[in-house]
Parts: sequence; C-alpha cells; structure tokens
Amino acid sequence: MEGMINYLQSRMSFGSFIEIAIIAYLIYTLLHWIHGSQAEQVIKGLIVVLVLIPVCSWLRFTTLSYLLNSLFTWGIIIFFVVFQPEMRSALQQLGNNRLFKRFIRDNDSKAMDKGFEAIGDAVSHLSEAKIGALIVCETNTGLKDIAASGVTLNADITADLLENIFTPNRPLHDGAVILNPRSGKIIAAGCLLPLTNRHNLDTTLGTRHRSAIGISEQSDALTIVVSEETGSVSYTEGGEIIRHVPVAQLIDHLKTHYNDASNTAENADKPRMLNMRGDGRE
Ligand code: ATP
Ligand code: MG
Repeated sequence: MEGMINYLQSRMSFGSFIEIAIIAYLIYTLLHWIHGSQAEQVIKGLIVVLVLIPVCSWLRFTTLSYLLNSLFTWGIIIFFVVFQPEMRSALQQLGNNRLFKRFIRDNDSKAMDKGFEAIGDAVSHLSEAKIGALIVCETNTGLKDIAASGVTLNADITADLLENIFTPNRPLHDGAVILNPRSGKIIAAGCLLPLTNRHNLDTTLGTRHRSAIGISEQSDALTIVVSEETGSVSYTEGGEIIRHVPVAQLIDHLKTHYNDASNTAENADKPRMLNMRGDGRE
C-alpha cells in the first residue's frame, strides 16, 4: 500500500488533481442529468469499466485490459446510438447551464449593442426626415406568424437597411419591420400587426401607433414608432405607449428591456409563441 502511495505521489502533479476534479465534476453532472433515465445504468457500467481499465493495466493484466478497452470503446459507440434522445436532452441542458449562458450572453451582448446602435442611428435619421417607421423588436414571444404576413429578409440589422426599408414608395415601406437584436437579424418587413381595441387613446394616434400598441398587448415585444406627421419617436411595451422619447433614452430602455427579458426567459420553461389568433396558444 505504501509503495502504491509513493508511486502515486511521484506521478501526480498539481495539474493531475485539477484534472481529476474536472473529470469527477463532469461524471457527477452526467449522472445528475441522466438520473432516473434508462441510460443511467449503462453509464454507471461504462464508468466502472473506465475505472477498471487503468487498474488492470497497472496490475499488468494485459488480456483483461485489452478486453475492457474494447468493451469501453464499443460501449460508448453503442451508447450514443441507443441513447441519442437522452444525449440530446443532456446537451440542451448544458446549453441552458447558467455558466454557459453567461459566457454566451457576454458575446451576444456585444453583437446586440451593435444592433442597438444601428437601430438608434436609423431612428434618429428617420425622425429628422419625418419618415414613418414601425419596428417590432421580438423578445421572448415568437412572432413567426406576424413575420409571415410580410416579406422574409433574414438580413443583418444595419441603419442603412432600416432607413432604406421605410423610405416612402419603396416596396416594403408600408407595415412593420420585425427584427431580433439577439440574433442581430431583421426577420421580415412589410408585416401586418394586430390593432389595439382600446378606445381611450389620444385621437391623434392613427393606425401605425394603434398597431404598435396592439402587438405589445399580445406579446412581450418592444415596438418603436416614428411618426410620419411629427417625426416624434414613441415605443410600446406591455400594452402601454411611451411617447416623445429621445433616441438615447429609447436605446437605453431597449438594453434594459432585453436584459430583463433574458432573466425572465431563464426562469420560464419555454418561450411563448404568438399566433395570428393572438391568444398566445400554440
Ligand atoms: P403617423 O404619425 O406616422 O401618421 P399614425 O399613427 O397616424 O402614424 P397612420 O397615419 O394611420 O398612423 O399610418 C398609416 C401607416 O401605418 C400605414 O401606411 C402603414 O405603413 C402603417 N400601418 C397601419 N396599420 C398597420 C398595421 N396594422 N400593421 C402594420 N403597419 C400598419
Ligand atoms: Mg397619421
């Protein structure tokens, strides 16, 4: 026993301890994920084989070591084929892991900031030029059905493209743009939004503003409106309209909106999907 401890001491470095800790954590996480599933017993068996392999090779049981090695290699291949659905769900959970999410979000937030900057520039120019615009920023509620009412673009969010879309007499200037700052894409343009049924609104608000309120009643999107008549910038969110907003304040609010929405999505099981019935049912 003492010989074995001396042997381990001579072989083990600080790095080996870290490696062991990482492997132990990975095994623990894996077992946690598959706990209660059919794959659990098989994984446990494979882990036993994995532990026996170095023991056998250390004891110089060459044939046994060879057999265990082959068993492990084939076991892994067969395991991935048989338990492909379990593995897929485990990988999905890995994607949902807070640590990974934070890492991905850090990268995303830089890309999102670029999108916000482009939106800010476009809204400033459109407002100065008094060009009407309606920009729906998709959040956690999917807006596929609404996007399908327009023309699919799937283009990067740039100020030039947004301004171009809303330029009067261009084919897509009528209707709303649907974009998603998280993916950095303008999903569609020329989209038809549901109008609000509210009667207590300022009578100066026409259909552009009413449709912006309508979509905010039925989804968690934030919608930006530039008035063609006054150049004034407004946004709608949660059924409310905030009018005459300076562009810098709008962009700050957009950032907060997506920050809050990410936290909400983390706590929700599944993003809601808005359909054309507008009842939020799939
Ligand atoms: P503005 O201050 O720019 O005049 P408004 O609120 O008074 O805005 P309207 O003058 O009625 O609204 O604007 C009409 C334009 O708004 C349409 O040409 C169209 O581009 C857009 N619009 C109106 N209704 C919808 C809708 N349901 N979905 C998408 N876009 C719409
Ligand atoms: Mg009008």
